[in-house]
This record gives sequence, C-alpha cells and structure tokens, in this order.
Amino acid sequence: MLGLMQEWPLLCHKILDHAARQHGEREVVSRSIEGPVVRQTYAQLRSRALKVAQRLHQGGYKVGDRVATLAWNTGRHLEVWYGTNGIGAIYHTLNPRLFPDQLAWIMNHAEDRILFVDLTFVPLAEKLVPQVPSIEKVIVLTDTAHMPQTVLPGAVAYEEWLDEVDGDFTWLPQEENAASGMCYTSGTTGDPKGVVYSHRSNVLHAMMACQPDAMCLSARDVVLPVVPMFHANAWGLAHSTPMTGAKLVMPGARLDGEALYELLDSEKVTFTAAVPTVWMMLLQYLEQTAKKLPYLKRVVIGGSACPRAMTERFERDYGVEVIHAWGMTEMSPLGSLCSMKPQHSDLAGDALLDVKQKQGFAPFGVEMKVADDDDNELPWDGKTFGRLKVRGPAVARAYYGGEGSEQFDADNWFDTGDVAHIDENGYMQVTDRAKDVIKSGGEWISTIELENLAVAHPDVAEAAVIGVAHPKWDERPLLVVVPKPGKQPQKEELLAFFQGKIAKWWTPDDVAFVEEIPHTATGKIQKTTLREQFREYRLP
Ligand code: ADP
Repeated sequence: MLGLMQEWPLLCHKILDHAARQHGEREVVSRSIEGPVVRQTYAQLRSRALKVAQRLHQGGYKVGDRVATLAWNTGRHLEVWYGTNGIGAIYHTLNPRLFPDQLAWIMNHAEDRILFVDLTFVPLAEKLVPQVPSIEKVIVLTDTAHMPQTVLPGAVAYEEWLDEVDGDFTWLPQEENAASGMCYTSGTTGDPKGVVYSHRSNVLHAMMACQPDAMCLSARDVVLPVVPMFHANAWGLAHSTPMTGAKLVMPGARLDGEALYELLDSEKVTFTAAVPTVWMMLLQYLEQTAKKLPYLKRVVIGGSACPRAMTERFERDYGVEVIHAWGMTEMSPLGSLCSMKPQHSDLAGDALLDVKQKQGFAPFGVEMKVADDDDNELPWDGKTFGRLKVRGPAVARAYYGGEGSEQFDADNWFDTGDVAHIDENGYMQVTDRAKDVIKSGGEWISTIELENLAVAHPDVAEAAVIGVAHPKWDERPLLVVVPKPGKQPQKEELLAFFQGKIAKWWTPDDVAFVEEIPHTATGKIQKTTLREQFREYRLP
C-alpha cells in the first residue's frame, strides 16, 4: 500500500517562494562589485529571479541547459541561480581562482551555453570565451552605467538584459530528480570532475544543514556566507538561509579581514562560515585593531582542518562558538559537524578542545564508515583509521561524463579519499588526505595534526607539513613555516614546541621558512605544489 500523502516535488526555487511569502521583508544585503552596500528583500529577490527565468526562457534557454556563473557572493548571483532553476536549467558555478586553461576545460566539458560574469572577472572571461564554442551569450552582472569596454562579442549589462521582460512569469514545471546545479572539483589529482546536484538533493541538504546540531539556522539569524557560492553551493547556505528566512549578507569581492569585520559589525551578523585561511586574516585584523565581535554567535570552519588555536581564540577571546565541519563538493558538501552531545556537557578547557578538534558527527542524511584497503569496516574506537566512505541522498552517485567511477562501489559507498577514524560517540576525525599522509618506516604520520600544533606557536602565521624523501625511512616530515610579520622564530624552538604533544618520532626532521605557502582555488594548502617546490630538499 502506498502512503496517501501529496506529491510535492522538492524544487530549489520553492525555497525562494517560501522565503518571499513567509519572510518577504527580510533583507538580502550585498557588498556590490561596483562598491556600495545594496539592499533588497526576499520578496524583491524572488521577483527579479522570476525575471531572470522569463528572460532566459525568452532567449531560447531551456530545461537542462548549463548556465555558467563566474561571480562572487551577491544578491544578483543568487537571482541568477534561482531564475535558472525556475526554467529547469542548471546553474554551473566556476571557481575564478582556477587557471584559465582549467576553467576553459571545465566549461567545454559542461558545454555551458551562457555565462554570467562579475565586473571583476570580465578580463578573465575575455580569455575564456574564445576557447569555449558552446557559449552563445555573455551577461555582465552590472548596470549600463558601469558596463566596461569589452571585446566579448554581444556582451550586455545584466540590468539592461533583465529590463527587456516584465516579470509576469511562473516557474516552469519540473521534477525533483532533475539536475539543478553543477560544480567541478578542483582537480588536484588529474582533470576536474563534475558533480551534478539535483533539486531534491539540494533541498534535502538544506533541510539537513539547518538542523540544530548542524548549522542551527533560524529566522532570527543574520548569515554571512564568506565561503563562495562557487565552493560547493556556499556550503549549502545559498539554499538553507532563504529556507529559514534568516537575513542574508553577501560579501561580494572583498574577503579581507577589514571588509569582513565591517559587515559583521554593521549588519550585526550572528552566523558565518568559511575556510581557516579566511579566519586567519580576520583574527589578525582583530588583533591589530583590538576590535571585538559583539554580535557574532557561531562560526563554521571547514574545508581544511580547523587549527586548535583558532577554535581557542574565537571561543576564549571573542566568545564565538566554533563549529568544525567537514565535507566535500561531492557531498553538497556537508558530511559532519562538530556540535556537542550530552556526554560532553561536563567538559571544559583542553578536554573540550580535544573534542572540537574532531570533524564531528554525521547529521541524518549522511551515512559514514571507515574501512581498510579490503573494504572491511573498522571499529569506532577513536584510533583505528582507514578510508572514509560515505553515502546519502545528497552524496554524488557518479561524476558528470562517468569519470572517476572507481570511487563509487555497488552499494553506493563513495570513497572520499580521506583517511579518518571515528570514536565511540560517532565523532569522525580526519587524519589526512590519503595522498598527503606521510609514510615513515611503514608507519603513518598525520600532517594535519602537526600543522595544527605548529600554528599554535605565537610566532607562526601559517604552517604546512609535507613528506620529503629519506634514505632510511622512505619519507620524513618537513615543517614549512610562514612567520608572523616582524617575527623570526628559530628552528630548534619550533621543534621543541612539539615536545610532549606528539609521539617523538612524529617530530619534523627540519623546518623551512618561506614568505608564502601556496593555496588551492578553495583556499587550502596546495601540497602538490609545495612537494614539487621541496622535491630536491635534503634533510639534515
Ligand atoms: P577541493 O579539494 O576541490 O577544494 P572540496 O572542497 O570538495 O574540494 O574538498 C574536500 C576535501 O577537503 C575533503 O575530502 C577533505 O580532505 C578536506 N576537508 C574538508 N573539510 C575538512 C576539515 N574540516 N578537516 C580536514 N579536511 C577537510
């Protein structure tokens, strides 16, 4: 017997319908690319998204077409997303920090038909578009007054393009399993791979993300997604924030400490999320200016491991709760969040920080296990580590075009490429990416753990650990350090800093001081480049 409940397809643009109806006056505030902070409401954003849908429809765009965006987090970018979905087309976010050749490869692979581009990226688009024959039209996300001179054929200002329709339109019917969005992984291990989200997976993911032990979002929050929409749907915030009716603050192109502080303060932001490198800049700014964060309540830190010292500073010095999170583009992207369970209610100080170092537990909608190389499931004892595998309704079951099929097994378990352990309480901790872990004399050393300890040193701005060749042990750890401005930490002092905190044989063999550590397009330490840089390095 079937249930007798209604068929109500889970469609992304229904999220915006809900926001406009229930929270219509709630604001979406954007730092515009032109400069000023601009304001609209959810009701206005929906009206403009409907115009986007109508204008795309009028332009001959249809179900399944790929609509590329090369844009920062702004209200306009959001309008384009929802409008695209409203005719059954697929938004495809491009990460502007990738190399142009890689971007052109991705756009050709996805066969994007139309490109929406921010003013900042017009020069980049001028390089890309001639290499991507499928692109028929380029819309610059600005008004006529700010439209730049460009060699892009037929490029038009967004506001002018939008003004060609009256907004008298309704969303086109579609089904929940249809594709809604695309995002390519950054391709650190070969060509990038395309992840295709469905309407259903995006809506379920947003519902999962709002839960109290996940991001705990409500209509009373003010949300600043610093994590870009091109980094896995701004970790779902582009959907979950309007779903709850929280006020949305979009940071535009300026992600430096000062610019973020300005928005956190002037808009009274209560919730924000980004990778550790962003928070490093904010914390440095706060330290230099002796400013505080009176409104901010929670910060989600993920994308790479959140250093213990960062959690400590946010919580102790600024009274902001840190929620460590782990995820992947392939998971929409949330996989786990580190909220506390009742068993932790008596913990404080270092014992609490020990738990907060972990990447946390999976919300409903994510199944998780660790397995050995023969795929035997390993115990949840907080120490036995193996390959981390996941499955769920917002986890990819294949890549676009069928590449990378070896990462998916017949039971739908997706091999994340991370090495992790899970404790008795279900808290997962990432030891390393499988390709970054250091193998010393047959034993594994976690580079993440060493990096997190190193950045707790007062003179260290950023640290990375890589394995370098060793005649006896195969590989040994090298600590690469960017000192804080004006500081000159000594090698012996830094190595002594590890004493008593880790097994002695984990201590790096040497320290290299550098001015800068290379980052990936999503703000993570680029270990491949760093390993290349130190390929000839000889340990003492
Ligand atoms: P990209 O590698 O293209 O930036 P993702 O953002 O999807 O793509 O990266 C996912 C990977 O990032 C995970 O497999 C994991 O290795 C790493 N990661 C994400 N969050 C964390 C975290 N909190 N701690 C450690 N590693 C993390």
